[in-house]
Amino acid sequence: MKIPPFSLAKQLDELSQELDSAVLRVLKSGQYIGGEEIDRFEKFFAAATGVPFSVGCNSGTDALVLALRALDIGKGDEVITSSFSFFATAEAISAVGAKPVFVDVHPDSYLIDLNLLEKAITPSTRAILPVHLFGFPVDMERLLQVAKKHGLKVIEDCAQAAGSFWKGRSVGSWGDIGCFSFFPTKNLGGAGDGGAVTTKDPHIAQRIRELAVHGMPRRYLHTQLGYNSRLDALQAAVLNVKLPRLKGWVNKRQLIAKRYEEMLKGIPSLSLPSSLDPEDGCHGWNQYVVRIQNISPKEDTQESQANLKKEISDFDSCYLPRDLLKKKLEEDGVNTIIYYPIPIHLQPAYKSLGHEKGKLPVTETLCKEVLSLPVFPELTIEEQEKVVHSVKKLLPECF
Ligand SMILES: *Cc1c(COP(=O)(O)O)cnc(C)c1O
Repeated sequence: MKIPPFSLAKQLDELSQELDSAVLRVLKSGQYIGGEEIDRFEKFFAAATGVPFSVGCNSGTDALVLALRALDIGKGDEVITSSFSFFATAEAISAVGAKPVFVDVHPDSYLIDLNLLEKAITPSTRAILPVHLFGFPVDMERLLQVAKKHGLKVIEDCAQAAGSFWKGRSVGSWGDIGCFSFFPTKNLGGAGDGGAVTTKDPHIAQRIRELAVHGMPRRYLHTQLGYNSRLDALQAAVLNVKLPRLKGWVNKRQLIAKRYEEMLKGIPSLSLPSSLDPEDGCHGWNQYVVRIQNISPKEDTQESQANLKKEISDFDSCYLPRDLLKKKLEEDGVNTIIYYPIPIHLQPAYKSLGHEKGKLPVTETLCKEVLSLPVFPELTIEEQEKVVHSVKKLLPECF
């Protein structure tokens, strides 16, 4: 039995007829840019998010760039975010000329640590960009309190969190702008790149609409420098087929996460991701991310700690118990992924920011310990049992 980290083929079995006719409809219509499918999707997606406006664009990365531009964030501005995320979160901030300021994450939620937020605010801070990482929603009430107090804008990175809610409201409906990705492996995935922004503000929606088409409010009148960043009609047609299923898929992800929790609890050196009290919200479980502690409790001597520290001084080492487990699982037919092995602030591309190792201790530790187990709606109980069996069998061999 071979188990992939995600499966797009199985979803296709269920949807292929509907997708075939949706795609053919677009091809026959001749309207490949804009048009009915786009309008339908934007209305549909705004409603699903609980906001009046949604604008499709080329990718989640573009959604972030367009959001920052729409709020006039640029050179000289600072935007607070976390370093434990996909690179695009910070890359978008840099792309508009602003500076990403990284706040450490909380070890239980892997999300931006709200206790550290205020300390990071300077006179140059313009916005906070929280990431609902792995589908776990950030406590948006608390975050908005801080933002309001300091007059900051809020852009939510919802790329991994379509179908996640905080206190009964969808992510992407709390801040000034929500940014979504439809990259194929996200909870709502297209057949290629795609993204969308969500907002309550009609002016922001209009500004983003224009920025996404060369800053062009009407044909060949360009009032600002923009981008070519549209959602394709073909992608919108695919997403229109998939969006009604999102809730059901998220429910399945939640069941799978619950089963993992039951089957994996109590294993030494393995910590499981925090789940969310249903009173607080809905975790979309785009990823099920466990941590393999670097020292097993019985070997936790000063000497072994020191040795390990020496060995893992480099982020691309593969001496880590986590890396060993990943390799052994792969040999056993279970494919896992590491999100993310290198924190953004220590990426070579951000050398110029001058961050040193040790600056964000929780983020840096997580990067050495996290491992994403397979989670996708079509994962069967047998497959999940196999994953658990392999983890239980192989983990003790990794220390
Ligand atoms: C995927 C992702 C993005 C970027 O989305 P693309 O559609 O791939 O450009 C941004 N932020 C996070 C947290 C992501 O996971």
